[in-house]
Amino acid sequence: MSCIFCKIVAGEIPCHKLAETARVLAFLDIMPIARGHLLVVPKQHVELAYLADPALSGEMMSMAVQLGRAAQAALQCAGMNFLLNCGACAGQVVPHAHLHVVPRFVDDGIHWPWPQGSLVSEDAAALVQAITERMR
Ligand SMILES: [Zn+2]
Repeated sequence: MSCIFCKIVAGEIPCHKLAETARVLAFLDIMPIARGHLLVVPKQHVELAYLADPALSGEMMSMAVQLGRAAQAALQCAGMNFLLNCGACAGQVVPHAHLHVVPRFVDDGIHWPWPQGSLVSEDAAALVQAITERMR
């Protein structure tokens, strides 16, 4: 087992634990983007959150929202990002699903400069059909 998050879940590597349930653990990110940056991970090794049991992903989000609310009260931040990167090309560094909760402050200098495209209506119809046909 070489997964760093599995080692944290197993207690082999210490963490600054914030909360846990039977299936989910939350702790402070040791390389924070902002003060209070935390991670919520499933205790079971799952690489890609969108391939996890949807109920487990729901538990991750539920904990993230509760911690986000508490972090906002504790830090008085002005906003928050909930970020779930799935796959290396999407920015996932550790291949164990993790939901980032990043407290945001006015003029904190953090930017995600995603280029904006425009949705073409014919493609929108094709996308809606292709995706909804495959929902399970
Ligand atoms: Zn793992």
